[in-house]
Amino acid sequence: MFKASLVALSTAALAAAALQGPPAQADQTSAKTAQAVTTTAKTAAKKAKEPKRRATVVGKGGAVTSVDPYASRIGLKVLKEGGNAVDAAVATAAALGVTEPYSSGLGGGGYFVYYDAKRGKVSTLDGRETAPRRIKPDAFIDPATGKPYTFTPDLVTSGVSVGVPGTPKTWQAALDRWGSMDLADVLAPAAKLARNGFVVDQTFAQQTADNRERFNAFSSTRKLFLRHGQAPKAGSVLRNPDLAATYDLLSRKGMGAFYKGPLANQIAKTTRKPPVRKTDLPVPRGSMTPKDLRKYDVVQHEPTQVDYRGYDVYGMPLSSSGGTTVGEALNILERYDLKSLSPAQVQHLVIEAAHLSFADRAKYLGDQDGVPVSTLLSDLYAQERACLIDPTKAFAVPVPAGNVANADGVCATPNTRGEDAPDTENVNTTNLTVADKQGNVVEYTLTIEQTGGSGIVVPGRGFLLNNELTDFSTVYDPADPNRIEPGKRPRSSISPTIVLKDGKPFLAVGSPGGSTIITTVLGILVNRIDLGLTLPQAIAAPRVAPSNKTPVPAEQAYLDAYGAALAALGHQLTVVGAAGTSAAEIGAATGIEFGPGQQLTVAAEPVRRGGGAATVVKK
Ligand code: GLU
Repeated sequence: MFKASLVALSTAALAAAALQGPPAQADQTSAKTAQAVTTTAKTAAKKAKEPKRRATVVGKGGAVTSVDPYASRIGLKVLKEGGNAVDAAVATAAALGVTEPYSSGLGGGGYFVYYDAKRGKVSTLDGRETAPRRIKPDAFIDPATGKPYTFTPDLVTSGVSVGVPGTPKTWQAALDRWGSMDLADVLAPAAKLARNGFVVDQTFAQQTADNRERFNAFSSTRKLFLRHGQAPKAGSVLRNPDLAATYDLLSRKGMGAFYKGPLANQIAKTTRKPPVRKTDLPVPRGSMTPKDLRKYDVVQHEPTQVDYRGYDVYGMPLSSSGGTTVGEALNILERYDLKSLSPAQVQHLVIEAAHLSFADRAKYLGDQDGVPVSTLLSDLYAQERACLIDPTKAFAVPVPAGNVANADGVCATPNTRGEDAPDTENVNTTNLTVADKQGNVVEYTLTIEQTGGSGIVVPGRGFLLNNELTDFSTVYDPADPNRIEPGKRPRSSISPTIVLKDGKPFLAVGSPGGSTIITTVLGILVNRIDLGLTLPQAIAAPRVAPSNKTPVPAEQAYLDAYGAALAALGHQLTVVGAAGTSAAEIGAATGIEFGPGQQLTVAAEPVRRGGGAATVVKK
């Protein structure tokens, strides 16, 4: 049986590592796997170095930006070798599956937004996970108590929260529609990276340590990520030959091999009978069958679109609430001349616009027919919502949703209280932005939901399964658009956004961060378009994450800048990660701005999540 091993080893040792026989599973690749050779983390750190991270670069000829330097470098190489933005995006995403396996990977889902330069058109792919056909409305209720499972870690760490993965089909669908390279060619660099290993950074080490209890609960996960039950040290090297073998398998047989055959059967079985070793966690079982995987498909919907101060803002439609919620908030803000207001007044309006649009998100948005998206994105409706805002006084949160059935632009009674909408989204995921020399652009956010997803690695396959179904409402209510239903996609907040000006790309941006994604993207757009910050400044700027709840999480720097003035208006803010907030951090965004003369300003986070990696073809 072949071992996915966490090892601390030098690059020289990697090269010299002994080779051993093929994996036990009949359908796995016959590629040989390097045997673990261990040295101290210190020695490894001396020899094996992570590629450089740069938060901002300016240049031409194509660009890739992500949270991870290995992944950005791989995407850039694909561009340099003649691949287009879609080829590079898939190669980058596959590499993130290696180096950011707690945020993304084959076992998850995501949303892909693409600007086609030739056609001048923005398209989307919804690769969100789906609920198995046999899921029950009370799937998240503990039969022992009749009450919902404790969310973290009990419900999260389960087979029942695993949705049918959409990421593999998203990659295939994107390549089929818009790519220029074969799947095998774009997966090859990531397979090599998985086989050779990468240097563990502080974020990865900490994420593993934070998940130690639940990773230890599964034999497969412990084997891959916990050496002798412990998290890896920063500076050690992690290799994942099982994932390399899975990428090789998919390269040889196509993505169909993920959805049908031994791997599909094994995925379904792993959710129904997770490989539990010793644990006190309940690990509720799932109901996924091979048929669920066979039936999975990516869907292509028209993007959401709003005109914001002469810019066309294209976003992700349902099943993500991202495009609609960002769009509604922008429409509300467009009614104010933000440039002429004080910084605190601008923030007051941003917070209030977000509260209003989150109230509508909770009431109206879900993966179902008949959602009134065009009303929610109309200027008339924005007018009706905006007139509830008092420039001198914060809302009593939660605010109620608006009445879409009667959107006439007439103001409703201000400041009545709405209902609390529980938010169980977590704050992990990863985002990448790619542009090529032809002018095509990809904005792609992918996730396995929680940091570490369900905590369950598919044995011998090198990837974690998601816990995306926890994005459904926990308690079934037939009036709730986000209720659990067979085959349905849980509502997402993912907001990959491409902004055009006069039909040409101006900006592409996206972020991880659960429900904070929406306000991160909103804040970046306001910072760039209204407040005149550069894109890197807009990404770096302090963040706030209002979602129609109190207290409102904000970064310390945000509190330092605006806290007192906003408190005077009645806002209740708290530092992100404090008790009562769902977010532990506010997401690490990436973006590209398209300047005159084909100049690209490529931006990643300077600090959050240890800083990202912006790369460009020609500096
Ligand atoms: N599951 C979340 C969503 O789709 C993303 C998770 C996260 O960003 O942490 O909105």
